[in-house]
Amino acid sequence: MRDLAILACGECKRRNYTTTRNKKTTTERLEKVKFCPSCRKRTTHKETK
Ligand SMILES: [Zn+2]
Repeated sequence: MRDLAILACGECKRRNYTTTRNKKTTTERLEKVKFCPSCRKRTTHKETK
């Protein structure tokens, strides 16, 4: 069963990416450095609901 996770920019809070995660194997919050088109730079994106 897939669980959708939304990754939001830590600086502008814009939701830029979605990913799927497995709840059985991933319990911690996802945190990934990705390019934010709004900030126009790479920022830390955190999982949000
Ligand atoms: Zn941003």
